Amino acid sequence: MKIVIIGSGLAGLSAGYRLCKSNEVIVFEKDPDIGGMSASYSLENSGKKYFIEKYYHHIFRSDSELLALIKELGLEKQMLWLEGKNAYFVDGKYYPMNTPFEILHFSPLSILDLAKLGMLVLRIKLIKDTTPYDRIKAKDWVLSTAGESVYENFFAPLMKSKFGDNAGNVSAAWLMGRVKIRSDRGTEGENLGYMRGGFDSLIEALEKEITANEGEIRTNREVTEIVIKDDAVQGVVVNGDFIACDAVISTVEPAVLDSITRGKLGALHETLKSIRYQGTACALIGLDKGLMGDGNYWLNIKADVPFGAVIEHTNFLPFEDYGENIVYVTSYFQERKSLLWTQKEEEVIDSYLKGLESIFPEFSRKDVRWTKLYRRTDTAPVYEQGYLEKVLPFAAGPSGLYLAGMFSSSNYPERSMNGSVKAGFESAELLMQQKEARNQHKELRPV
Ligand SMILES: Cc1cc2nc3c(=O)[nH]c(=O)nc-3n(C[C@H](O)[C@H](O)[C@H](O)COP(=O)(O)OP(=O)(O)OC[C@H]3O[C@@H](n4cnc5c(N)ncnc54)[C@H](O)[C@@H]3O)c2cc1C
Repeated sequence: MKIVIIGSGLAGLSAGYRLCKSNEVIVFEKDPDIGGMSASYSLENSGKKYFIEKYYHHIFRSDSELLALIKELGLEKQMLWLEGKNAYFVDGKYYPMNTPFEILHFSPLSILDLAKLGMLVLRIKLIKDTTPYDRIKAKDWVLSTAGESVYENFFAPLMKSKFGDNAGNVSAAWLMGRVKIRSDRGTEGENLGYMRGGFDSLIEALEKEITANEGEIRTNREVTEIVIKDDAVQGVVVNGDFIACDAVISTVEPAVLDSITRGKLGALHETLKSIRYQGTACALIGLDKGLMGDGNYWLNIKADVPFGAVIEHTNFLPFEDYGENIVYVTSYFQERKSLLWTQKEEEVIDSYLKGLESIFPEFSRKDVRWTKLYRRTDTAPVYEQGYLEKVLPFAAGPSGLYLAGMFSSSNYPERSMNGSVKAGFESAELLMQQKEARNQHKELRPV
């Protein structure tokens, strides 16, 4: 069977890996590099090469499909579990947020508010099934559960930095998912996983497996149409050429899928149009001196700066692996007219550096060795109230068309590498089951 996979992110590569041993697989990727949002830069410092993700990445112990894949590919020895410290910068003050003692000193909340926040976290941890909360707005649920001060002084800035003007519409199910996963912490901070050498090793291993089994991965190839006739996939159009195939797995954002299927998905068309995605403008900065001297990894920010978080990678991974300090400065954006998308790269970087100067008085531009900016408009669905109804099925309707990606059920109520690996595997499995069923049907037909 000839299978085309659109997109070489983790969903596409995982599906390709599962299918390449018994099928002819071609992965088309529009970008020059593979890996999608989990792609890395290849950098060099003092003659030593290293890989570092374009967007900051870590994983959780509950990421079972991803961890099983890492093991299956023989990469388990690269897994590290480390404490990632957190802090919150609010209205000019820096608050470490790791130990109960530190949290008690978070002065934007009174002791009573802190108790309410603690109760809210406990309550969320006890909720097994968060799906009924998909219909409730996170804002309304926090206001009724813990009161205005907890919402305004704690959650609202975090949600605003992630969802901008859409923050008020985000579902309580999304918030609960985040709180559950990010409250798995020890006495020093969060327990987080990372692959020493970077997640590039995972992308590279998947690529090797696919090509070793005679699958192909073609970069700089944008699929502009999935050709569907008589309710069945015929092939795809790539850089103007028609490529016939028996099945397609699409991992691209819903709006793009809608456009490249040219209105052939019937009832799904309205859903595809209604799923909103947002973008991320993420700077990676190499520094002579570290930014957060207390060893903090993740800083959430409520301040008048154009970014919502600063993530000091070399306060998480050993400095020696890189030989220089590496910091991410990042912001989500909701509209293509956002300055983070329309401004030139050097303008965005300049605005980020200005922001760093205002937050860290000891930071000097003289310490900046290099900067990079990675920005895309398709980095996350907006998990609005009622989003659950929009989760896309693995089989899309026309025979031979399968969907796997950030929009799949395995990525609800938050997208992740684990969710995309799982989506890739599930779509591949469904495809193989349907192929098997068709073959059996043919065998049973009287001749
Ligand atoms: C800032 C940021 C931080 C993150 N941090 C974490 C983290 O700490 N932990 C975690 O688990 N996850 C994290 N994620 C999420 C994780 O990166 C994604 O969920 C996952 O990589 C998505 O994989 P995917 O294959 O579904 O999609 P993508 O990686 O987006 O892959 C889709 C691919 O399709 C390609 N494509 C699109 N249109 C076409 C076309 N027409 N033709 C051909 N190719 C096309 C794209 O170029 C892309 O390569 C983070 C994401 C971001 C943005």
